[in-house]
Amino acid sequence: MSWDESRYKATCGACGHEGVQVRRSNDYGESDDRWEGFETVPANEYEYYRKRSVAHVPVCHCKSNDIVIGALIE
Ligand SMILES: [Zn+2]
Repeated sequence: MSWDESRYKATCGACGHEGVQVRRSNDYGESDDRWEGFETVPANEYEYYRKRSVAHVPVCHCKSNDIVIGALIE
């Protein structure tokens, strides 16, 4: 089983802090995200807000979870 890894620029909408979203997906359509430069918190308390199930959501050191995903990083 092979994983494809894509890196996207991620920017905090509140303070402008920049990090990286690392999205991995495999041949079975499974995917997960890792975050570089941001903390993550369990998604449960945000599920009502995001309306989708992800294991963790990113949160900036400024406490904002308004993380904007940007362009693919080559
Ligand atoms: Zn921030």
